[in-house]
Amino acid sequence: MSQTILKISGLKVAYGGIQAVKGVDLEIREGELVTLIGANGAGKTTTMKAITGLQGWAAGEVEYLGKSIKGMPSYELLKRGLVMVPEGRGVFARMTITENLKMGAYVRNDEAGIQRDIDRMFTIFPRLKERANQLAGTMSGGEQQMLAMGRALMSQPKLLLLDEPSMGLSPIMVDKIFEVVRDISAQGVTVLLVEQNARLALHAADRGYVMDSGLITMSGNAKDMLNDPKVRAAYLGE
Ligand code: ATP
Repeated sequence: MSQTILKISGLKVAYGGIQAVKGVDLEIREGELVTLIGANGAGKTTTMKAITGLQGWAAGEVEYLGKSIKGMPSYELLKRGLVMVPEGRGVFARMTITENLKMGAYVRNDEAGIQRDIDRMFTIFPRLKERANQLAGTMSGGEQQMLAMGRALMSQPKLLLLDEPSMGLSPIMVDKIFEVVRDISAQGVTVLLVEQNARLALHAADRGYVMDSGLITMSGNAKDMLNDPKVRAAYLGE
């Protein structure tokens, strides 16, 4: 069995007096595609922010590649291959697509490799190639999502955290984004995917976790979860 890449134990996060995450345990092995699903406000984004150093936490432990990453800033984590694509994408609006992709590679200094990877991003996302010199802020939501994912991939991540990549996209664009998520995973990048679209997420994933009111209430093989009556009733709208 492959090595554990991320291990979260007893994670608790509070915003002032509000407990958003109340003791979460979650483990991801290298190469897995794991999804975290749950209702609005369950604490999924907060969990991701805690992992990536964007949100401090009150109790618990997060280990990445066997070491505690408590208090480690996001850029340190990026250098070590832990990268998040936030909800709302966060592209640099006043930079072109190519400049955004180059920014993703700022922790690297292999110029030839960076250029090769930009070409690779243009192969994965032909839409970005057509618009290489367009300002990112003028692109559609789906195009910005592609760019945000491309920019994250430029840093050569080992573990990629995706927060709601399908948010606000048309069905065709959602299919495209999920196709890319599966490809990224097939190429060996470990993925943690937070998604509102539980059906698509569970179809794409190896394993899933369900979060409810700050706690993990269920976990297991993604295909088994798709067939679980409780998951079907609560999260697949059946
Ligand atoms: P969604 O699917 O709607 O994005 P989520 O599962 O990602 O939801 P979080 O965004 O983690 O949920 O929010 C968990 C809880 O923490 C919510 O009740 C939210 O209102 C609260 N919360 C999130 N961010 C803050 C903040 N900066 N300050 C105060 N409360 C916050």
